[in-house]
Amino acid sequence: MVITLKQNPPQDDVNRLHKEITDAGCRIHACIGDVYTVYGIEGDTSQLDVKTIKANKAVHDVVRIVAPYKLANRLFHPEDSVIDVDGIKVGGKEPVVVIGGPCSVESEEMVCSVAKKVKEAGGHMLRGGAYKPRTSPYAFQGMRTKGIMAMLEAKKQTNLPIVSELMSADKIEEFEDNVDLIQIGARNMQNFELLKEIGKRTTKPILLKRGLCNTIDEWIMSAEYIMANGNMNVILCERGIRTYETSTRNTLDLSVIPIVKERTHLPIIIDPSHATGDWKLVESASLAAVAAGADGLIIEVHENPDYAWSDGAQCLKPEKFHNVIEKARGIAKIVGRDIL
Ligand code: PEP
Ligand code: MN
Repeated sequence: MVITLKQNPPQDDVNRLHKEITDAGCRIHACIGDVYTVYGIEGDTSQLDVKTIKANKAVHDVVRIVAPYKLANRLFHPEDSVIDVDGIKVGGKEPVVVIGGPCSVESEEMVCSVAKKVKEAGGHMLRGGAYKPRTSPYAFQGMRTKGIMAMLEAKKQTNLPIVSELMSADKIEEFEDNVDLIQIGARNMQNFELLKEIGKRTTKPILLKRGLCNTIDEWIMSAEYIMANGNMNVILCERGIRTYETSTRNTLDLSVIPIVKERTHLPIIIDPSHATGDWKLVESASLAAVAAGADGLIIEVHENPDYAWSDGAQCLKPEKFHNVIEKARGIAKIVGRDIL
């Protein structure tokens, strides 16, 4: 961090600035010029807040050199993190993983049947929402605990690790005991109290989706919240962001893959279903994601999309899901990866 002082700054404010910097454990290297004094701040500056420093009357300008996240930062952890989800490795040079399954668990029979199809098609994990974040309070809210139990039965029958969304801290123990990869959905990406709790109370891997309108750095800061509270097992998931475009449900931002990989050591997977909102677009979005270096895909699959209780328009039928995996396998080879 570099701080430029104003000319003839008030001494009280300079003292306050010094205290703030040294209290955070950082050191000041002053360069006193004829016109300006410039401070180079050394040490872990992640606890220093640029806006607070800028508000100090002694300060002319502040420039951050190192991003405000430390644990997620590639700079301090050059090797790729590989996250183990019940034996399946995600990230680094590991093969690309494919997660498939319905938006919502609709019954035990339904989720067990689709789980078998996901497995036959070559999928490696089963997704299924039991607690659903719906825009309307009148829409289906999920089977809740019964949905989690149905997912467990599907796991028993197929051996596929299960992925499901956690919406509130009071269900952490239920997820800790039963779910292999805990999804934090787009709407909760900045629910900081929830992020702190999952950092403290579970060591299960977390799939952190990008918020609907969040920048990459905000998203990484949310990963940092989880990590700073003790859980280092975070996988990022891009699921499209809101833009002015109305032809797709969201806009799939694939440039995040190389950017996230440059800034962090965390794996990143892509959700082409919520990104596009249209099953016809899922294949091309999936192939593009693998070409761009994604560590995995999470795709909605339903045996009868026309009758799905949520997100039917973006669900692939199992046969189509199989075709996507086979085509993605070819793309993965070209970019030096494999598909599990
Ligand atoms: C989902 O995975 O079904 C879901 C609601 O995702 P998102 O949080 O990305 O909207
Ligand atoms: Mn969905």
